[in-house]
Amino acid sequence: MTIRVAIIGAGPSGLAQLRAFQSAHAQGAEMPEVVCFEKQADWGGMWNYTWRTGLDEHGEPVHGSMYRYLWSNGPKECLEFADYSFDEHFGRPISSYPPREVLWDYIQGRVKKAGVRDYIRFNTAVKAVRFDQASRTFTVSAYDYSIGQGIEQVFDFVVVASGHFSTPHVPQFDGFERFSGRILHAHDFREAVEFKGKDVLIVGSSYSAEDIGSQCFKYGARSITSAYRTQPMGYKWPKGWEERPQLLRVEGELAFFADGSSKRVDAIILCTGYQHHFPFLPDELTLKTSNRLWPAGLYQGVVWEHNPQLIYLGMQDLWYSFNLFDAQAWFARDYMLGRIKLPQPAAMAADSAQWRAEELALQSTASMYEFQGRYIKHLIEQTDYPSFDIDAVNRIFLKWKSDKKQDIMGYRDKSYRSVITGTAAVPHHTRWLNALDDSLQEYLRETSGKGDLKTLRQH
Ligand code: FAD
Ligand code: NAP
Repeated sequence: MTIRVAIIGAGPSGLAQLRAFQSAHAQGAEMPEVVCFEKQADWGGMWNYTWRTGLDEHGEPVHGSMYRYLWSNGPKECLEFADYSFDEHFGRPISSYPPREVLWDYIQGRVKKAGVRDYIRFNTAVKAVRFDQASRTFTVSAYDYSIGQGIEQVFDFVVVASGHFSTPHVPQFDGFERFSGRILHAHDFREAVEFKGKDVLIVGSSYSAEDIGSQCFKYGARSITSAYRTQPMGYKWPKGWEERPQLLRVEGELAFFADGSSKRVDAIILCTGYQHHFPFLPDELTLKTSNRLWPAGLYQGVVWEHNPQLIYLGMQDLWYSFNLFDAQAWFARDYMLGRIKLPQPAAMAADSAQWRAEELALQSTASMYEFQGRYIKHLIEQTDYPSFDIDAVNRIFLKWKSDKKQDIMGYRDKSYRSVITGTAAVPHHTRWLNALDDSLQEYLRETSGKGDLKTLRQH
């Protein structure tokens, strides 16, 4: 009997699942009855930019956390699809750190080629998933806003690919109620120009803090102060950016920090991370985890051990990203198609416990991406996903780290070599710090070869 599969979300993870099924089908496997539910009007998940914040046009929570002028914060060579290279998509070498729209275009290229759009039900938000023990099936309830109607459908497998950087973690600090400026979470940040000429306080010390601070600096904020809870980011910041320890409270316009110092600020941006949030799942099917490399309860990082008909994609903290989702989706596909058999529950738990123990022993940053690389390799070895040189990707990550240490405002001007095609990336026509237009058109513009003559921000 043909299996019925629901995929929740048409971001990079959900699209990887569609591509995985289509690729097996192209080689003669039966195509399952697949419905991919996507609450937005288009595909690409986080990469499908929206100007909206709060609620969307249907009253659903806005999924997008990306903002204008966002450029990849890791080399594209570390996320390249092994079955669809940047060369194939763009037809010429491009730089190593493309902006959002360029990566969105790349993500779309593969699934357009695969012809899987018709499997996606857009404008349809999944509201509830119920499992019936007797029939061992899921009933998925959703609301299709394009027809203004609730729907229900029965499936053998549910693949949760709804992302985990969308529901903000928003801590409270004393005095916020009376702060005279604007307070927002990174999830609602859209436009750095808004903070031109302002003294901005960034709370947090991870990627959002680093990048949103950098955007605000690039687009003309007067000063950036970033407050860390555990440890400073420790980069050589440009003049006008300083790090302080944890924010304690706010009085009027003054922010007070753990070292007893204070500073007047105009705006506070909480770059305090996100929550794994699955409001459509009952408790017994819900993954509960912080943002980490090995969430508990997922066999091979993918299959919900307490009910193996439920699959989660992309729930790990991300070093690798698109190729990680691919490795998981190919594994999940082969499991759903019956090509991979699961061990007994005790053996699944023991296997997961071993990965978790390894995760807990990780000390350095390098050991973290090497761990994720090992995991991807382990998944790929079990399927026909094209293998690629993971050690070479780890070496690029290492270089990336040292490039950032050297020049946090200039690391995006560096170039690497693709591990898929061997093609060397070419520097972008404009240095990142001066590239104010992040559109696909501007990015792909042919240059006269005169190079980047303008200096828009002196520092
Ligand atoms: P998402 O991209 O979040 O997609 C999930 C999809 O599920 C969405 O389309 C959403 O609408 C849909 N959905 C959710 N709930 C429902 C529901 N109930 N019903 C129907 N549909 C639903 N990664 C990188 O590799 N490089 C980067 O430079 C990078 N920059 C980032 C910058 C920011 C600000 C953020 C927040 C993340 C960034 N990431 C980056 C990580 C990014 O999340 C991943 O690259 C990728 O988008 C994850 O894919 P996903 O499909 O798992 O989730
Ligand atoms: P994150 O990596 O989970 O980091 C959360 C940060 O919030 C940590 O620094 C944490 O501090 C801090 N924090 C949490 N609660 C706090 C509190 N009460 N007080 C002070 N600090 C607190 O989340 P993220 O930085 O939002 O990154 C999420 C994802 O988005 C990542 O995958 C990242 O790569 C991606 N991203 C990419 C770009 C880009 O340039 N392309 C830009 C932004 C984000 P502790 O260390 O003390 O826990």
